[in-house]
Formats: sequence, C-alpha cells, structure tokens
Amino acid sequence: MEKRELLDTFTELEAQTEATLGIIKTMKDEVSHLTEENNVLRMENQHLRDRLAEIIKQQSIEKQMTDSGLTKSRLNLEKIYEDGFHVCNLFYGSRRDGDEPCAFCLEVIYGERK
Ligand SMILES: [Zn+2]
Repeated sequence: MEKRELLDTFTELEAQTEATLGIIKTMKDEVSHLTEENNVLRMENQHLRDRLAEIIKQQSIEKQMTDSGLTKSRLNLEKIYEDGFHVCNLFYGSRRDGDEPCAFCLEVIYGERK
C-alpha cells in the first residue's frame, strides 16, 4: 500500500468511527429518554390505580344518584374513561389505544344500575 493510500484509508476509517460514535450517542440518549418516560408512565399508572381503587371503594358505599342518572362515582369513572383510560377490571388503569371503545369499561360505567 502506498503511504498516500494508507493515509486516505485512515481518514476514511476516522470518519466512519465518528459517524458510528454519533449513532451510539443518539441511541444512548434515546434509551435514557425512554427510561425516563417509562418511569413517568409507571408513576402515572400507579396514581391512576390508586385513584381507581379509591373510586371503586367510594362506589360501594355511595349510591347517591345525580341528575344524569349516574352515581357520582360512576361519573368519575366516566370521566377517567373519557380521558382515555380503562376503568374495567380487565385492563384497569391502562391507556385506551387511540381511544378505542371498550365494552367492559362501558359495562362498568353504564351497566345494570343499582
Ligand atoms: Zn376497558
């Protein structure tokens, strides 16, 4: 290999290594970001579970009817549902993807009035 060729090869390798380092840095930042987001969602999820447990507990004691014919606690559940979260036992506290309707949730909110 000529000296000149060797130098060119080194320059090329250097550029490739820098590009690879850039990719690694980007991926590292992304993982860090996702971890952070995951923690926030986990906390939010826990908060919603606590809130939901609170509401369900309230619901069993309170049978007070409101103007709409729903109990206060059912109205709370309806609000959480409309905010985009499941209130059914099956998916309890998880986000409704793309606001998809859930028959189980609707049953919890509007099912046989007591
Ligand atoms: Zn549901």
